Amino acid sequence: MLYKRSSELFREAAKVIPGGVNSPVRAFKAVGGDPIFVTHAKGAYLYDEDGNKLIDYIASWGPMILGHAHEPVVNAVKERAEKGTSFGMPTALETEIAEQVVAMVPNIDKVRFVNSGTEACMSAVRLARGYTGKDKIIKFAGCYHGHSDSFLIQAGSGAVTFGSPNSPGVTQGTAKDTLLAAYNDLAQVKELIEANKGEVAAIILEPVAGNMGCILPIEGFVEGLREVCDQEGILLIFDEVMTGFRLSKGGAQETLGVKADIVTFGKVIGGGLPVGAFAARNEIMNHLAPEGPVYQAGTLSGNPLAMAAGLTMLQELADKPEIYDSLQKKTEYLRDGLEKVFAASGFEYCINQKGSMISVHFTNEVFDFATAAKGNNDKFKDFFHGMLAEGIYLPPSAFESWFLNDALSYEDLDNTIKAAKTTLAKMK
Ligand SMILES: *Cc1c(COP(=O)(O)O)cnc(C)c1O
Repeated sequence: MLYKRSSELFREAAKVIPGGVNSPVRAFKAVGGDPIFVTHAKGAYLYDEDGNKLIDYIASWGPMILGHAHEPVVNAVKERAEKGTSFGMPTALETEIAEQVVAMVPNIDKVRFVNSGTEACMSAVRLARGYTGKDKIIKFAGCYHGHSDSFLIQAGSGAVTFGSPNSPGVTQGTAKDTLLAAYNDLAQVKELIEANKGEVAAIILEPVAGNMGCILPIEGFVEGLREVCDQEGILLIFDEVMTGFRLSKGGAQETLGVKADIVTFGKVIGGGLPVGAFAARNEIMNHLAPEGPVYQAGTLSGNPLAMAAGLTMLQELADKPEIYDSLQKKTEYLRDGLEKVFAASGFEYCINQKGSMISVHFTNEVFDFATAAKGNNDKFKDFFHGMLAEGIYLPPSAFESWFLNDALSYEDLDNTIKAAKTTLAKMK
């Protein structure tokens, strides 16, 4: 496959957009080469500027769970656009989608809509701090909660010290309020809480992680967090920007059977338009402005086009829960097929999968960021480019989950497994 036109477009873009992209992971830094410029997409397929057709495993990083340009969503957006694209005034549509979310997600009474997952997580943490009157948060290395300052923190020296900024522009002052633990390490969380007694407002995590590849919580981890939060008056925040409406209609709370105090959403909730949201029970949500003192706002929040797309998507997911069975079966089929070809390849590998999230690491066992980082990145690069040459578009980083969409056919999955076999054979 040729990518001449994409490379030309990338050079042009880089003159006027930093790094040529509006979000870093798009730039192929982790795998090398130039990013592919898309013209359009339909169902399970991407079409690029060089005339290639690719089977898509990123689904816009999650939102397109029913496939691209899904007709009911497209029609809903078209219809709404005719009526005006933004008012800065309330619409009945916002209540309708809020009711839909509250009906689908366990343990929430109210939801506030924002424009991205970043905003949702940032606002959820402010709300948790405002509600508890405490400043510190605990997050896990390798979990991504968007690009707001509190989350761009890396582990400091020693497990029980403060974090330090991992991007210039994040202040030490902010970093000292974010404590870092290893994913799946409940004992470390308890140590942090002990060392910061009475100061921790919230623990935030991806209940199934997707931002270090796909990593599952081990038995008892999330349950243990719930327990320690209850004991210490700490709020448990599930960042369900990836898992919400993807693992099941109620998200990870439903799938894992553990209640969160605040839940954040993004990706699927907008049906492919820019939407985020955070939700909780009344006692917590009523702390939010204008009802309560915790400030949060947005000119385009609850935008009618975005709400129309999101509502149409959520209604379909609520009406047809069999979609989740279908996605699960397809993903397991892919996993089993990949297991076979990887096992035969002789490479070290680990395939993690939950629902329609799956990823391959080129190392034996992955359960946190440190073990994910042991993956052989040169092998991943070769695998990524080999798959691309076969017409399969995987996330251009070993630290990202693949997302299946329900438009994928079993023939697409067979072609993907076959492409993996061919690619692995060439990598020898
Ligand atoms: C994508 C993502 C975010 C950030 O969402 P944006 O819409 O990119 O700001 C936050 N948390 C998780 C778990 C994500 O996967």
